[in-house]
Amino acid sequence: MKTIRHWIDGTAATGASTRTLPVRDPATGAEQARVLAAEPADVDAAVAAAARAFESWGDSSLTRRTRVMFRLRELLTAHENDLARTIASEHGKTVEDARGEVVRGREVVEYACGIISALKGGYSDQISTGVDAFDFRQPLGVVAGITPFNFPIMVPLWMHPIAIACGNTFVLKPSERDPSASGLVAELYAEAGLPDGVFNVVHGDKTAVDAVLDHPGIAAVSFVGSTPIARYVHERGTAAGKRVQALGGAKNHAVVLPDADLDYTADHLTAAAFGSAGQRCMAISAAVAVGDAADALLPVLAEKAKAVKVGPGLEPGNDMGPVITAEARDRVASYVESGAAQGAVTVVDGRGLTVPGHEQGFFIGPSILDRVTPDMDVYTTEVFGPLLVVLRAADLDEAIDLVNANPYGNGTAIFTGDGEAARRFQRRVKVGMIGVNVPIPVPMSHYSFGGWKDSLFGDTHIHGPEGVRFYTRAKAVTARWPHVDRSVEAAFNFPTHG
Ligand code: NAD
Repeated sequence: MKTIRHWIDGTAATGASTRTLPVRDPATGAEQARVLAAEPADVDAAVAAAARAFESWGDSSLTRRTRVMFRLRELLTAHENDLARTIASEHGKTVEDARGEVVRGREVVEYACGIISALKGGYSDQISTGVDAFDFRQPLGVVAGITPFNFPIMVPLWMHPIAIACGNTFVLKPSERDPSASGLVAELYAEAGLPDGVFNVVHGDKTAVDAVLDHPGIAAVSFVGSTPIARYVHERGTAAGKRVQALGGAKNHAVVLPDADLDYTADHLTAAAFGSAGQRCMAISAAVAVGDAADALLPVLAEKAKAVKVGPGLEPGNDMGPVITAEARDRVASYVESGAAQGAVTVVDGRGLTVPGHEQGFFIGPSILDRVTPDMDVYTTEVFGPLLVVLRAADLDEAIDLVNANPYGNGTAIFTGDGEAARRFQRRVKVGMIGVNVPIPVPMSHYSFGGWKDSLFGDTHIHGPEGVRFYTRAKAVTARWPHVDRSVEAAFNFPTHG
């Protein structure tokens, strides 16, 4: 069986690792590879390589760095298909969906191609008499990224192209459940001309994460994953003196007003709730029907949810693949059950679905629960699967209060034809990313991505301008160049006048 190795100092490496972890195909349940689990010594080796590489990369010209990014962009395009198929085979999502994450990740590389503009500082001529002031930003050194299973290429790409284009060197600890895409990206970086040691990958679990968090040679950590681990990473990383941005979980609400276009809304809610089997941090997992919106919406929604074609992600024509593990499937099923037990109405029940020929795969169909209330476990928890809960609100203000009372604040959307209502919603809602008739409002790469409340620990959002700020620190220079009168000749005789 294939063993997936680390990538340290420009080459695949086993290092001190003796433990391995299973990598499964969620569509069959079968183990398809093992991935090395790094020991602290492996993290040490990666940090040492990155620190050596920083000595020259941190001082390299912006032009040189952007040339690598332009080449990487071309290579990601050329390899889009292999990358998408690799992701689909380990994550379970459809190849087309995986292609979407390759494209959205590549857009961050495109932003990094323009790092010269993003890094421009300010300049004030004559800020005081004979004095000028300017500022500029410099890289931090060795920085690290720790990423989740649900976007094995896009989420790391939110981090390393920006960090590296800013002059840092990088150590990535990807999810152990779908690690292969990171190895492929490392090879593409090498082909793009990135010097050895600038981008490193160490695989593994908590042992590797803790070694990263405690390592004195790492200046900053970007984390994306579930809220409990995000909170832990932020606390432990900052206690060790690092700059940390830790993005956590979500419960994303779609507020549907009675004037929303019914078919458009139902189509987009279905895709946003069940695409990628609901395993997106920006998936819509709660719909809030305002006024009498639910009466018309639910029958259409139920029909569309039942029509979702569930099957292996590698087979064309499927809308939705399996979830990541058997435990994840059972967890989703347990929440469908607990919701019903606590008084919700089961509109669509995806439990018990089997895909012929894939009986051992981790499949569960789309489920919809109606008349869910904020006290139910199915609402208070991030289920992270193909389960949509529907709540009711009398009016828009009640819907906004409901969204704001939720501890998460990652994304939200409003479906309406009423501009004033949309504006009131976008201004009052305590959420980091808002869609107006856009169900999954992941900001494009020239903006930054991040939630509020328990969806983000730290101050800066990820990628875009805030990513540049996170991976650099500023210097402000105040300069005076006194005038020297060169016409005055040096005198050997004792000076008698000035
Ligand atoms: P996770 O928190 O289990 O794992 C994320 C990373 O942390 C992985 O690299 C994993 O190896 C590591 N990790 C896991 N347990 C750990 C522990 N006890 N100590 C130290 N490290 C540990 O998340 P996941 O299941 O891989 O991904 C799904 C979660 O990520 C969901 O909650 C989802 O909402 C969230 N997510 C958030 C965003 C966002 O932008 N806010 C984006 C994608 C995913």
